[in-house]
Amino acid sequence: MTAGLPPGPDALRRSLTDEQWRVTQEKGTERPFTGRYVHNDERGVYACVCCGQELFASDTKYDSGSGWPSFWLPLAGDRVATRTDVSQGMVRKEVTCSRCGAHLGHVFDDGPRPSGLRYCVNSASLDFRPGDAPGKQAP
Ligand SMILES: [Zn+2]
Repeated sequence: MTAGLPPGPDALRRSLTDEQWRVTQEKGTERPFTGRYVHNDERGVYACVCCGQELFASDTKYDSGSGWPSFWLPLAGDRVATRTDVSQGMVRKEVTCSRCGAHLGHVFDDGPRPSGLRYCVNSASLDFRPGDAPGKQAP
């Protein structure tokens, strides 16, 4: 065993379910209204299921009616990265975890005020941690 190295692809594969692997590593999309966090309104933080980086807080989650967990803003800092995605005949903005590159979902500009953004994220990409939102936690 080599200590101190991040988990390799094999370890990551073993730690994820088939659905989590398909969505985060193969840029899949879970079927609407099937994700475990669609209707989760508990207080807490949503972290990347692959690397554990905290991405979204329950404060910014809202019901967009789309069938996927929706957020109007990620947590502060560059925790999510976006890039243009032209697959499937559409021009969309893909959202990924800035640390490990896991596919999270897409961001659209039809969200509520004040941001006007809708981060449409697969439940399979997220790991929910109940509790206080970050900012109230010690750094
Ligand atoms: Zn990640």
